Amino acid sequence: MRLVLLGPPGAGKGTQARMLETRLGAPQVSSGDLLRAAVRNRTALGLKAKGFMDKGALVPDELVLGLIDERFNQPDARDGFILDGFPRTVAQAETLAQMLAARGQKLDRVVAIIVPDEEIVKRISGRRTCRNCGAMYHVIYDPPRNMNMCNSCNGELYQREDDAEDTVRARLEVYEASTRPLLDHYGRLRLLARIEGIGRPEEIGSRILAVLGTNGDQAKGES
Ligand code: AMP
Repeated sequence: MRLVLLGPPGAGKGTQARMLETRLGAPQVSSGDLLRAAVRNRTALGLKAKGFMDKGALVPDELVLGLIDERFNQPDARDGFILDGFPRTVAQAETLAQMLAARGQKLDRVVAIIVPDEEIVKRISGRRTCRNCGAMYHVIYDPPRNMNMCNSCNGELYQREDDAEDTVRARLEVYEASTRPLLDHYGRLRLLARIEGIGRPEEIGSRILAVLGTNGDQAKGES
C-alpha cells in the first residue's frame, strides 16, 4: 500500500501513520521527522532547514526531496509506505509521481484528514514530542505515564519550537496557500478520500481503514 496522508499540521497525520504501520504492513515516512533528525544530528542539511522550520515556513525542495528519495531506497519502504507531511505542494506531488514512476510504482490512495483551525491550535499547543524517538503526546488528551518522559524509550519530551501558537498560525497559513491545492490535485487524479478528523484516534483510524477498503489485516507486500 502506497498511501499519502494529507491534512493541516495537528490533524493527526503522524498519530494515524504510526497506528496504521502495523495494520497496513508499511512504514510511516514523515518528512518532518526526517528533517528534525537532520537538525538533531546537526547535518549540513539540518542546519539549513532549521531556520525555515522554526518560522513555520516550508523547507526548500532541494533539501526535502533528497531525504525522501533516500528513505524510499531503504528496504522497508520498497513495498509500500504511509507518507506523512510529504508532498506539501503540487510541485512536490508531481516530483513524487516521477520518483515512483522511476521505480515502476504509483500511489494507491490519498486520505485527507479534515479538522477545523481552532481545534488544531488547541491540539498543537498541548502537544509534546519525544526528543529521542519522535513519539507524540498531548498534555490533556494523551498524557505520558511519567511527566516529560516518553513511554516507549524514556526520552525527554519537549514542545517543538514550531508548536508555539504564533508559529502554528503561520503553519496553517502555509497549509492554506500551498498544501490545500493538493486536495483538488489528487481529487482530479481520483485518488482522494476525505475523512473527518475529530474523535478518538482509534475512531479516525477506522475511518481511514474503511475508505481504504480494508479491515487492516492485510499482510505486508500484498497490495
Ligand atoms: P511536520 O512535522 O510535517 O509538521 O513538519 C514540520 C516542519 O518541517 C514544517 O513546518 C516545514 O518547515 C518542514 N517540512 C516538513 N515536511 C515538508 C515538506 N514536504 N516540504 C517542505 N517543508 C517541510
